[in-house]
Amino acid sequence: MNGTDPVGILGGTFDPLHAGHLALAQEALRQLNLSGVILIPAGAPWQRHPEAPAGDRLEMVRRGTQQVPGLQVDDREIRRSGPTYTIDTIQELRADWGAQRPLWLILGADAFLRLPTWHRWLELLDQVHLAVFCRPGSPLSTAAMPLALREEFERRHCPSRQAHGAGGTIASCRMPLLDISATDVRNALHAGHPPADLLPPTVLDYIETHQLYR
Ligand code: ATP
Repeated sequence: MNGTDPVGILGGTFDPLHAGHLALAQEALRQLNLSGVILIPAGAPWQRHPEAPAGDRLEMVRRGTQQVPGLQVDDREIRRSGPTYTIDTIQELRADWGAQRPLWLILGADAFLRLPTWHRWLELLDQVHLAVFCRPGSPLSTAAMPLALREEFERRHCPSRQAHGAGGTIASCRMPLLDISATDVRNALHAGHPPADLLPPTVLDYIETHQLYR
């Protein structure tokens, strides 16, 4: 990876990592022509209360991505103490990689609509390009966006191939979004029905060995 290769960042709770996360990361890699996608599990997401401990969530992400070309895992949010804010992570990555490298923060449309609740979200928008993934046939609707987000979207929106510089634009991308959420996966596990089709086999193995989501 040289200093100007674009990199994708996929943050999340990954409680647990599922097939939808992998599809999202692979689709971003391909559509945005990225040199890699880095999955960064949140240590202490301040808006959520993950069920599985941070160390287990990290290990599931590691095992579930091991055989997938182009995907890497970064544990900095798990190692950092205090609430996990994406802006801190991006600033650390910028310090490591320099101000010139294009960084693409990858988000599902659901996460994008909640962006104004994130810590220092406007600063974040200046630091990264955003790739917002929606289902085909359900384009990102500005009517669904809170006003402040709509204004930023209208100002920054640009097709991914025309994004210049290290950050600052928002691209909407399409993917055949799999109808999977970690909530559904956890519910199936609680009910004693391991959803083998929704999880990488290595993740299901880990869950069973460590008796998670009982
Ligand atoms: P939960 O059900 O616990 O809210 P989740 O499955 O939505 O969890 P997160 O780890 O919070 O997972 O999500 C990380 C990122 O992955 C978010 O940007 C989210 O929009 C995206 N994402 C989650 N599920 C899918 C999916 N099936 N397809 C595409 N993107 C997804």
